[in-house]
Amino acid sequence: MKIALVGCAHGELENIYDAMECLEKKENIKIDILLCCGDFQTSRNEQDLKCMAVPEKYYNMCSFYKYYSGESVAPFLTILIGGNHEASNYLQELPYGGWVAPKIYYLGYAGVINIAGVRIAGLSGIYKAKDYTKGHFEVPPYDDGAKRSVYHVRNLEVFRLKQLSQPIDIFLSHDWPTHVTDYGNKEQLIRFKPHFKDDIAAKVLGSKPCEELLTHLKPKYWFSAHLHCKFAALIPHDDETVTKFLALDKCLPKRRFLQVMDIPHNENEEIKIKYDLEWLTTLLLTNHLLSVKSTTNYMPGPFGNQRYCFTPTEEEKTLVLNKLNKDLSVPDNFVQTSVPYETGSPKKKCYSQPEPIQNPQTVDLCEKLSLDD
Ligand code: 5GP
Ligand code: MN
Repeated sequence: MKIALVGCAHGELENIYDAMECLEKKENIKIDILLCCGDFQTSRNEQDLKCMAVPEKYYNMCSFYKYYSGESVAPFLTILIGGNHEASNYLQELPYGGWVAPKIYYLGYAGVINIAGVRIAGLSGIYKAKDYTKGHFEVPPYDDGAKRSVYHVRNLEVFRLKQLSQPIDIFLSHDWPTHVTDYGNKEQLIRFKPHFKDDIAAKVLGSKPCEELLTHLKPKYWFSAHLHCKFAALIPHDDETVTKFLALDKCLPKRRFLQVMDIPHNENEEIKIKYDLEWLTTLLLTNHLLSVKSTTNYMPGPFGNQRYCFTPTEEEKTLVLNKLNKDLSVPDNFVQTSVPYETGSPKKKCYSQPEPIQNPQTVDLCEKLSLDD
């Protein structure tokens, strides 16, 4: 199947779809899905803009709201993770993932899905050590601190992803795993982005937890964004497998923000999103580790009598499969939970952040699996 990949979308969804349709005509190809590595900006209205960590001059409605309101229909099945510029209040409605608009699916804080036999995992946000061990304590309306910490990666999601034992085809992260720069054309990267030089030398460019996940999960492909440049690398593993890493630039004219590639899939299956049984079971098995407090939330370690490895057994997976009536297809259960912006409305000067709301998609999944929201 043909996968299109973009780096930071920065709300330019309409332009990205246009570029994909242009490419389809020019190359005489059919693109099946779009993968987006964060800074997607799912702002439905002006209130959502207020929940995004950017200076006020960047409060721009862009084009996501059209796909949310139904004014436009996404021409491609689109999968996204979150970055550090998001309508965080809206993404927080879907901690375990869900449809942010028809045909546009968010993977959650972390998530794993299958599309026609291609297993795609993702981790939203960026790494900042100071918030890594905190719970998900942020609730809108956010103060300035919470508006930033809300998109910082937490140890719970990394711990959960580390339990996966089945092979991953594609992994999506917003910031790059640390050290990938050692396995590509580092000199060219530094020529293009001289201000990365010190961070690369100090081995701090990117995300340490992402590096741990890369060496642990050894996915076939790892795609990232955030640093606003194209960079490719081939990362070898101990067992002689390799991960192909690719980061793309942000969506701007004449920038290298889009790449199409062929990924082998199961041709007998439809191109539709399915839940991943190993992932759902891991969510359930680690449900008790969820914290919504800002205090330190330790993950279990290999000492003491308690269980610390949550890689699901076959029996545990069967239990979860039965909870879902043996049906792993993701339901088409998108619903609007806020009033969308209307094209042509006068720009309001004054608006406030919204209160949190329960998204029926999350309620439904939590009920089916008996998870905490
Ligand atoms: P954003 O679009 O997410 O606000 O910011 C991305 C920009 O921040 C990139 O262009 C990149 O140059 C810069 N940046 C992000 N993380 C790092 C980092 O760890 N080190 C350096 N030197 N720059 C970074
Ligand atoms: Mn970013």
